[in-house]
Amino acid sequence: MEIESTKPMNFIRKIVEEDLKSGKHTEVHTRFPPEPSGYLHIGHAKAICADFGIAADYNGKCNLRMDDTNPSKESMEYSDSIQNDIKWLGFDWEDRLFFASDYFETLYGFAVDLVKKGLAYVCDLSFEEMRAYRGTLTETGKDSPFRNRSVEENLDLLKRMRDGEFEDGSKTLRAKIDMSSPIMVMRDPAIYRIKRVHHHRTGDSWCIYPMYDFAHCLSDAIEGVTHSMCTLEFQDNRVLYDWFVEKVGTPAVPKQYEFARLNISHTITSKRKLLALVEGKFVDGWDDPRMPTLCGLRRRGVAPEAIRTFMEKLGLGKQESVIHISQFDYDVRENLKKNSPRVFGVLNPLKIVIDNYPENKVEMIEASYNSNDPEAKTRMVPFSKEVYIEQEDFKEEANKKFFRLVPGREVRLRFAYNVVCTSVEKDENGNILCVHCDYDPQSGDGGANSGKKIKGILHWVSAKHAIDAEVRLYDNLFTVENPGALDNFTEYINPESLTILKNCKLEPSLKDAEPESRWQFERMGYFCRDIESNGNNYVFNRTLTLKDNYGNNEKV
Ligand code: ATP
Ligand code: MG
Repeated sequence: MEIESTKPMNFIRKIVEEDLKSGKHTEVHTRFPPEPSGYLHIGHAKAICADFGIAADYNGKCNLRMDDTNPSKESMEYSDSIQNDIKWLGFDWEDRLFFASDYFETLYGFAVDLVKKGLAYVCDLSFEEMRAYRGTLTETGKDSPFRNRSVEENLDLLKRMRDGEFEDGSKTLRAKIDMSSPIMVMRDPAIYRIKRVHHHRTGDSWCIYPMYDFAHCLSDAIEGVTHSMCTLEFQDNRVLYDWFVEKVGTPAVPKQYEFARLNISHTITSKRKLLALVEGKFVDGWDDPRMPTLCGLRRRGVAPEAIRTFMEKLGLGKQESVIHISQFDYDVRENLKKNSPRVFGVLNPLKIVIDNYPENKVEMIEASYNSNDPEAKTRMVPFSKEVYIEQEDFKEEANKKFFRLVPGREVRLRFAYNVVCTSVEKDENGNILCVHCDYDPQSGDGGANSGKKIKGILHWVSAKHAIDAEVRLYDNLFTVENPGALDNFTEYINPESLTILKNCKLEPSLKDAEPESRWQFERMGYFCRDIESNGNNYVFNRTLTLKDNYGNNEKV
């Protein structure tokens, strides 16, 4: 079997390769374990790429396991969205979709085993009392008065907990480890709590639910996971992870490895905070294109390959940091630059009337989808007497550095002709109605003047052929660089994070653009047709401008 990866090395790949070479494992088996309590975000994508990516690199397997042990926050909607988003990102769990809730009976059996081994007991302390008994980092904990119950009594009480004899929170099953351990999670952690909450899969059949630390490692063991990756905040829990696996004595012995969370500037990667944005209606749902959720990025026009490339370059380290958003945008742009056909879209139209162009004439011009690529395909673009250009491409008065349309100066309409502005038509209030031009009939492609050096080259759309469209422009959702560090993060929402333009004019070749198809509108940025836009209702989202706003377009 191939055990040397061509991908950049990181500490987890190194461990995996060593384990395969030494024969400790014959196959890598990982899992991605989301809790179905929200939509996946860009941070999760780091874990997904690590879990699925590393398994794929070494011909191993990666399971998708819903970590659904906390029913009050979980739902089927979340579970379904998670599956959709992982598929979209390009990964496949084949027939290995699992739910921790499928293991409830097995996990309960493991708990009974621990009780029988004298390693777990039923405790009657309340949550507050337990906290007080636990001690602090500098002060050892105190044994619970219920710690030395007999195995028989514990077995009886555990069964009656399960049977619903006791009130919520009145009893807990706890591991019997060490109340003076320097590692807080080892101070007799809870294994089961009583909680009468309806579960979206098991209904009301359970009134006790296993705690994360117990359910997670043993679910890994049940599935034969070899390398269990998670983020650094679980570092301390690793000792407990190993303890449960060892004491229960499962045949498989998974090992946990931690890497740093992904944090990105100007956005938030916490499910709880993203939920607050949705519930507070600060955004238009989980898939709002300003959201860092996978479905939001998808709707925005980000390609899944770009996310995977970004993660690959990021690697898996142990150093916590905040990655500047321009670094992510860079990979998104590079992908779009390569893969999106270039077309004409006018966002803020200004009508140009070409006075010396014949009234009803229409010329079909063959235009490349990417002039820098001689292999690129072409489409036909109609040209006629009236065309739209961007308002910002015209000024009545301008200095010499403005290479666009100004009365008396000549500019080129890309792929078409050179035009000179002759006059400006205004209404009684002085608003510009249209701009009159004359064109040079010799300046068309192959014409005598077509090679003339002209600095200003504008994009345009023939007025009578244009598609009317709504275009949505986006900016960062937050005005501060690190909103995740603030409790009142909703006070820093960027009021200009969404601009809706209702009067845009697109070239007619976009008539059949599929929802989610991605395009470059020349000079205006990268766009994708909105996922919900169909028929004659044309809505395009701007994914990104052509260059970033951080003063550079270079690799950061
Ligand atoms: P949150 O803290 O936002 O609620 P979570 O970690 O509780 O997220 P889970 O659904 O439990 O969300 O996460 C599933 C997996 O994704 C876990 O292994 C977790 O470590 C990983 N993960 C979550 N957020 C990030 C992140 N920002 N960067 C890298 N991995 C992450
Ligand atoms: Mg979690």
